[in-house]
Amino acid sequence: MGAVPDGMSAPRAKPLFERIAIIGLGLIGSSIARAVRRTNAAAIIAASDAQPRVLARVRELGLADEISETAEEAARGADLVILCVPVGANADVARRIGPSLTRGAIVSDVGSVKAAVELAVAPHLPAGVHLVPAHPVAGTEQSGPDAGFVSLFLHRWCIITPPEGADPAAVERVREFWRALGSNVETMTAAHHDLVLAITSHLPHLIAYNIVGTAADLEEALRAEVIKFSAGGFRDFTRIAASDPTMWRDVFLYNKDAVLEMLGRFNEDLSALQRMIRRGDSDGLFELFTRTRAIRMGIVAVGQETAAPDFGRAREDAPQGA
Ligand code: NAP
Repeated sequence: MGAVPDGMSAPRAKPLFERIAIIGLGLIGSSIARAVRRTNAAAIIAASDAQPRVLARVRELGLADEISETAEEAARGADLVILCVPVGANADVARRIGPSLTRGAIVSDVGSVKAAVELAVAPHLPAGVHLVPAHPVAGTEQSGPDAGFVSLFLHRWCIITPPEGADPAAVERVREFWRALGSNVETMTAAHHDLVLAITSHLPHLIAYNIVGTAADLEEALRAEVIKFSAGGFRDFTRIAASDPTMWRDVFLYNKDAVLEMLGRFNEDLSALQRMIRRGDSDGLFELFTRTRAIRMGIVAVGQETAAPDFGRAREDAPQGA
């Protein structure tokens, strides 16, 4: 077992959970498995995924102690079940695992949308099982068990959205679990989460999908030039627009209201920007770009981004030790 990265808890003598069942072993699920193993946050890791090839890979990588073809088998006897499937698949998985859950078990998830997941999962859980949804705000544009890594959640936020009347002890155990994996933990309502994430994550993805889609629709000669000269801002949009199509389709289907609200505001601001350009409003443009630069500096100041140029991409002529 490798060393525990700084910021994650040292391997625990006594695990937080006896048996964790991870359903869906893609980027997020496999990263959780790796981090649980490294920190000994659970004694036994049970894994299940809809894809036999994913389970075969999980076995090869040694990510779990028990591998089950069905979610219900993995969840049986678990004191923590984490659903790591696309948002739209949560209801089906919850319906299947419901009857095999033990009284006192905690069911959580990692979905990028929270209100819809709560509505989809809660009705399938038997009395005495605690639902404590969570969203680790950490990820990459890659998918699958090979894309995961142990430090994915390190120094990243994990937002917990306990339903009204949630058991405080269960909520605290989930908080402790994510802290052990190196996350900073915040608690808020599901509705508030969905509004905040609509502007910080969902809308930026929509803009990236749109701009790359516009480029893809250009006539062939122009499209070739776009790809050739894509060293500028466009390249960063293509990284975001390469994100998993299933995951992002579900985000927009299940966080529809909040995304449409933010999209309305975005469109108004875009029209204002369009007018500034048309009228040659030099002061207006300068003032806006100065304000937006301050936001970027604020994100760097709280440690959520590097101050290195070009997102810290390696450069051959970069100053040593920089
Ligand atoms: P991923 O790499 O595509 O992994 C998801 C896995 O779940 C896939 O192997 C998928 O199989 C499997 N699956 C789908 N439906 C299933 C079902 N009914 N039963 C069992 N397994 C099923 O996706 P991910 O990026 O880890 O995302 C998983 C969740 O994390 C999503 O809810 C997403 O919103 C959330 N999240 C993602 C990120 C990110 O940056 N990626 C960040 C934070 C949170 P198939 O290939 O057959 O679909």
